[in-house]
Amino acid sequence: MSDYVFKPPYSGGCACGAIRYELLDAPKTVYLCHCTECRRMTTSAFGISIPVDRQYLHFFQGELRTIERKADSGRSVVGRFCGDCGTRIIHEPPHAADMVILRGGTLDDPSWVFPAGNVWTKSALPWAQIDQSLLNYEAQSPGLDDLSARWHEMLEARLSA
Ligand SMILES: [Zn+2]
Ligand SMILES: [Zn+2]
Repeated sequence: MSDYVFKPPYSGGCACGAIRYELLDAPKTVYLCHCTECRRMTTSAFGISIPVDRQYLHFFQGELRTIERKADSGRSVVGRFCGDCGTRIIHEPPHAADMVILRGGTLDDPSWVFPAGNVWTKSALPWAQIDQSLLNYEAQSPGLDDLSARWHEMLEARLSA
Protein backbone atom coordinates (compact mmCIF):
# COMPACT_ATOMS: atom_id res chain seq x y z
CA MET A 1 0.00 0.00 0.00
CA SER A 2 1.26 3.46 -0.78
CA ASP A 3 1.27 6.16 1.87
CA TYR A 4 -0.26 8.59 -0.56
CA VAL A 5 -3.52 10.14 0.60
CA PHE A 6 -5.76 12.39 -1.46
CA LYS A 7 -8.83 13.41 0.50
CA PRO A 8 -10.31 16.84 -0.30
CA PRO A 9 -11.45 19.30 0.96
CA TYR A 10 -8.10 20.97 1.66
CA SER A 11 -7.91 24.26 3.52
CA GLY A 12 -5.51 27.12 3.05
CA GLY A 13 -4.99 30.83 3.46
CA CYS A 14 -2.60 33.76 3.66
CA ALA A 15 0.27 34.28 6.09
CA CYS A 16 -1.67 36.47 8.55
CA GLY A 17 -4.82 34.33 8.58
CA ALA A 18 -7.22 37.02 7.27
CA ILE A 19 -7.94 35.07 4.06
CA ARG A 20 -9.16 31.48 4.36
CA TYR A 21 -10.37 29.09 1.66
CA GLU A 22 -11.26 25.49 0.99
CA LEU A 23 -10.36 23.49 -2.10
CA LEU A 24 -13.31 21.14 -2.54
CA ASP A 25 -12.12 18.76 -5.24
CA ALA A 26 -9.18 17.68 -7.39
CA PRO A 27 -7.36 20.36 -9.38
CA LYS A 28 -6.94 20.18 -13.14
CA THR A 29 -3.21 19.70 -12.71
CA VAL A 30 -0.18 20.88 -10.73
CA TYR A 31 3.00 22.30 -12.25
CA LEU A 32 6.02 24.29 -11.15
CA CYS A 33 6.50 27.72 -12.72
CA HIS A 34 9.98 29.20 -13.05
CA CYS A 35 8.88 32.54 -14.52
CA THR A 36 10.24 35.77 -13.10
CA GLU A 37 6.85 36.80 -11.70
CA CYS A 38 6.53 33.59 -9.68
CA ARG A 39 10.08 34.11 -8.43
CA ARG A 40 9.26 37.61 -7.19
CA MET A 41 5.86 36.65 -5.83
CA THR A 42 7.11 33.65 -3.86
CA THR A 43 10.50 35.24 -3.08
CA SER A 44 11.83 31.79 -3.96
CA ALA A 45 13.05 29.81 -6.97
CA PHE A 46 9.67 28.83 -8.43
CA GLY A 47 5.94 28.84 -7.81
CA ILE A 48 3.61 25.87 -7.34
CA SER A 49 0.72 26.48 -9.73
CA ILE A 50 -2.54 24.61 -9.16
CA PRO A 51 -5.21 25.35 -11.79
CA VAL A 52 -8.64 24.58 -10.35
CA ASP A 53 -12.26 24.95 -11.41
CA ARG A 54 -13.48 28.17 -9.84
CA GLN A 55 -16.47 26.31 -8.40
CA TYR A 56 -14.11 24.06 -6.37
CA LEU A 57 -12.45 26.96 -4.58
CA HIS A 58 -14.53 28.39 -1.76
CA PHE A 59 -13.37 31.56 0.03
CA PHE A 60 -15.07 31.77 3.39
CA GLN A 61 -13.07 34.48 5.17
CA GLY A 62 -11.44 37.77 4.23
CA GLU A 63 -11.47 40.19 1.33
CA LEU A 64 -9.06 39.68 -1.55
CA ARG A 65 -7.34 42.66 -3.17
CA THR A 66 -6.38 42.80 -6.82
CA ILE A 67 -3.18 43.38 -8.75
CA GLU A 68 -3.03 43.39 -12.54
CA ARG A 69 0.21 43.10 -14.43
CA LYS A 70 1.91 41.69 -17.53
CA ALA A 71 3.25 38.16 -17.20
CA ASP A 72 6.38 36.86 -19.00
CA SER A 73 4.02 35.54 -21.67
CA GLY A 74 2.95 39.13 -22.42
CA ARG A 75 -0.56 38.38 -21.26
CA SER A 76 -2.19 40.46 -18.60
CA VAL A 77 -2.71 38.48 -15.40
CA VAL A 78 -4.99 39.36 -12.52
CA GLY A 79 -3.66 38.36 -9.12
CA ARG A 80 -5.65 38.30 -5.89
CA PHE A 81 -3.86 38.75 -2.60
CA CYS A 82 -4.39 39.49 1.08
CA GLY A 83 -4.47 43.26 1.63
CA ASP A 84 -3.05 42.86 5.13
CA CYS A 85 -0.04 40.59 4.64
CA GLY A 86 0.32 40.60 0.85
CA THR A 87 0.27 36.82 0.31
CA ARG A 88 -0.75 36.07 -3.28
CA ILE A 89 -3.55 33.48 -3.24
CA ILE A 90 -4.81 33.06 -6.81
CA HIS A 91 -4.24 34.17 -10.38
CA GLU A 92 -7.05 34.60 -12.85
CA PRO A 93 -5.94 33.90 -16.42
CA PRO A 94 -7.79 36.15 -18.89
CA HIS A 95 -8.62 33.31 -21.31
CA ALA A 96 -10.48 31.02 -18.88
CA ALA A 97 -13.22 32.58 -16.76
CA ASP A 98 -14.14 29.31 -15.05
CA MET A 99 -10.58 28.59 -13.91
CA VAL A 100 -8.28 30.12 -11.30
CA ILE A 101 -4.69 29.24 -10.52
CA LEU A 102 -4.26 28.58 -6.84
CA ARG A 103 -0.79 29.33 -5.42
CA GLY A 104 0.20 26.00 -3.89
CA GLY A 105 2.29 27.44 -1.08
CA THR A 106 -0.89 28.75 0.59
CA LEU A 107 -2.26 25.26 1.35
CA ASP A 108 -2.24 24.27 5.03
CA ASP A 109 -1.42 20.69 4.05
CA PRO A 110 0.38 20.41 0.71
CA SER A 111 1.41 16.78 1.30
CA TRP A 112 -0.83 15.55 -1.58
CA VAL A 113 0.65 18.03 -4.07
CA PHE A 114 3.02 16.71 -6.74
CA PRO A 115 3.94 18.34 -10.05
CA ALA A 116 3.16 16.91 -13.49
CA GLY A 117 5.65 19.28 -15.11
CA ASN A 118 7.61 22.52 -15.19
CA VAL A 119 6.99 25.67 -17.22
CA TRP A 120 9.32 28.57 -18.07
CA THR A 121 12.34 26.30 -17.61
CA LYS A 122 14.36 28.77 -19.71
CA SER A 123 14.30 31.21 -16.81
CA ALA A 124 14.86 28.57 -14.10
CA LEU A 125 17.73 29.25 -11.72
CA PRO A 126 20.85 27.34 -12.83
CA TRP A 127 20.78 25.06 -9.80
CA ALA A 128 17.05 24.28 -9.94
CA GLN A 129 16.52 20.54 -10.44
CA ILE A 130 14.14 19.89 -13.34
CA ASP A 131 12.81 16.32 -13.23
CA GLN A 132 13.27 15.21 -16.85
CA SER A 133 10.59 12.51 -16.53
CA LEU A 134 7.92 15.21 -16.22
CA LEU A 135 6.23 17.35 -18.90
CA ASN A 136 8.52 20.35 -19.20
CA TYR A 137 8.21 23.50 -21.29
CA GLU A 138 10.76 26.21 -22.01
CA ALA A 139 8.05 28.86 -21.77
CA GLN A 140 4.28 28.75 -21.28
CA SER A 141 2.68 25.34 -21.95
CA PRO A 142 0.37 25.29 -24.97
CA GLY A 143 -2.80 24.88 -22.95
CA LEU A 144 -3.28 22.61 -19.96
CA ASP A 145 -4.67 19.45 -21.60
CA ASP A 146 -1.40 17.48 -21.57
CA LEU A 147 -0.43 18.62 -18.07
CA SER A 148 -3.91 17.78 -16.86
CA ALA A 149 -3.92 14.29 -18.42
CA ARG A 150 -0.47 13.58 -16.97
CA TRP A 151 -1.40 14.76 -13.48
CA HIS A 152 -4.52 12.61 -13.33
CA GLU A 153 -2.53 9.60 -14.60
CA MET A 154 0.01 10.20 -11.86
CA LEU A 155 -2.75 10.57 -9.26
CA GLU A 156 -4.32 7.25 -10.31
CA ALA A 157 -0.91 5.56 -10.11
CA ARG A 158 -0.31 6.92 -6.61
CA LEU A 159 -3.76 5.92 -5.39
CA SER A 160 -3.47 2.37 -6.72
CA ALA A 161 0.18 1.82 -5.72
ZN1 LIG B 1 -3.05 37.94 5.16
ZN1 LIG C 1 4.99 31.82 -13.09
